[in-house]
Amino acid sequence: MKKIKLLALSLAALFLVSSCAPAATTPNASNPPPSAVPTQSPEAPTAYTADVVVIGAGGAGMAAAIEAADQGASVVILEKMNYAGGNTVRSEGGMNATETTFQKAKGIADTRQAMFDDTYEGGKELSDKEILQYFVDNSAPTIDWLTSIGMDVSDVGQGAGASFARMHRPSDGSKVGGVLVPVLMGNLEKRGITILYSTKAVELIKEGDAITGVVAEDASGAKLTFKSDAVVLATGGFGANEAMYVKYRPDLAGFATTNHKGATGDGILLAEAVGADTVNTDQIQTNPTVEPKTNIVISETVRGKGAIFVNQSGLRFTSEMLTRDVLSTAILQQPEKYAYMILDQAVMDSMAALQENYKKGIITKAETLGALAGTLGIDAAALEGTIAAWNKAVADKSDTEFGRETGMDADLSLAPYYAIQVAPAVHYTMGGVKFDTQTRVIDTAGKPIPGLYAAGEVTGGLHGGNRLGGNAVADIMIFGRQAGAQSSAFALENGKTELVIPAAAPAVTPEVQGDYKDGVYEGEGKGLNGPIKVQVTVIGSNITEVRVTESAETASIFEGVERDLIPAIIRTQSVEVDAVTGATMSSTGVVAAVTAALATAK
Ligand code: ADP
Repeated sequence: MKKIKLLALSLAALFLVSSCAPAATTPNASNPPPSAVPTQSPEAPTAYTADVVVIGAGGAGMAAAIEAADQGASVVILEKMNYAGGNTVRSEGGMNATETTFQKAKGIADTRQAMFDDTYEGGKELSDKEILQYFVDNSAPTIDWLTSIGMDVSDVGQGAGASFARMHRPSDGSKVGGVLVPVLMGNLEKRGITILYSTKAVELIKEGDAITGVVAEDASGAKLTFKSDAVVLATGGFGANEAMYVKYRPDLAGFATTNHKGATGDGILLAEAVGADTVNTDQIQTNPTVEPKTNIVISETVRGKGAIFVNQSGLRFTSEMLTRDVLSTAILQQPEKYAYMILDQAVMDSMAALQENYKKGIITKAETLGALAGTLGIDAAALEGTIAAWNKAVADKSDTEFGRETGMDADLSLAPYYAIQVAPAVHYTMGGVKFDTQTRVIDTAGKPIPGLYAAGEVTGGLHGGNRLGGNAVADIMIFGRQAGAQSSAFALENGKTELVIPAAAPAVTPEVQGDYKDGVYEGEGKGLNGPIKVQVTVIGSNITEVRVTESAETASIFEGVERDLIPAIIRTQSVEVDAVTGATMSSTGVVAAVTAALATAK
């Protein structure tokens, strides 16, 4: 049955394959190991094959692939960017889970009911209750699973909207995504699971009612056909697709985004084209605490540790522990449409992520509150009065002004003091493809589409009208694993399919593979019209992203630099790249900025 299915390619698929360029033949040096070298025929086969094809190498996709492989399925991941990690690598806070061994060791009396209620109420009672129950019930086992595959989530902190400390995170205070993605990638490598980079899924293959594969496009635009018994959509959200979020929410026109470039909602469009239903697509979260010049997200843990908001007049205007949507609105109601987070040395000392941000130059420091106010252009007496009142509220355990109840363990009294300017940006798309607790994609008639699974930000239903901090990583790990388990079980009902895939075009050229420390680094160079600032992300010792955070270059000229030069730096892991014709000064400026950033990454 299976063999017949594999041979019986649809005419449409054959037509698409006939235009294929030959598959890349250079094996990726780091992946896969010899036991799983992809099967190569002398000529590109009419269709590549696997039990399960996963679309998207973010957290959900990688968790799904690991689980599917552990269940015995052959699996491959298609990733449209030339790096892995998607939005996952940017996540800061941690992973929510309840009744875990780490909570118990700390005497935290959290319950599944409390996590259910917090998420349901935080999500404006729009969450799908069955999906939410599965999520809550599987949170602790997933923490155990992550620990078993080498991820440190042993510290437990307080998140906004949570009635107990349940945000599990690395014990050294690192941002969770920067630790999680390398751990997942290491686990893929161990299992010989290949990520095909620069391979964009463009169509799901449907035969009768069932999804039986994916048509993708490689970097040259050639079409590749992958036949499989199951497909997992793990393409993330649409927070980087302004046209799409404005379509669902016209009021967000012109908002900045915290998302990586690949978050363009492809999975929703792919699924809709085969009849899938969607839910809550107009539910879009803006993160209240994004540093406006760099779009760096400041974790809500900073508030959990005691930071407060003040406006340009030096006054508090809200409880800082309310949900993200309420805080975004509260900040946008201030005359300047931004706020400052104020913290002291004790908060700074407790978080490595904050110290990293301080090094990036986005945090203002002063020895006294008066001096801090002076630098920010705030009235000194007003800021001093606000902090004195706040410290009294902490001492009294009662915030009579705004009713804040959590994140009040320590006052702000240890000099020096710090301020971070923050404003809201589009951060997370709660809605997406309709799915069930088995991660099966549901069609517009309410029935599962055989062979099609989805997990992570591409789905809708879990978070309802607002996502709590710490629930995104929990979502992608819990449902990513479930998608891997369910899709592989479904696929293996037909027996095992041989893995036949093109050799992986490496994400990086192995011989020039960077020897950099993982992290996010800032650098500056001189362009034609002034300074150019960049932010370089290094994961698994490789440059995975170069973002221009400041530039006065002419947009039409700079376009070529962003299109050609920056991808060349990432592809070759080197700054020895050709300047873009007609944009020499801009090219030199970007190269100098990346060089400066990498100098700090050694
Ligand atoms: P999640 O948090 O749900 O795992 P992420 O944003 O971390 O989502 O990851 C989603 C990944 O899917 C990103 O790496 C993104 O580039 C990738 N992706 C999005 N659309 C496609 C597509 N059409 N084909 C292949 N990969 C895709």
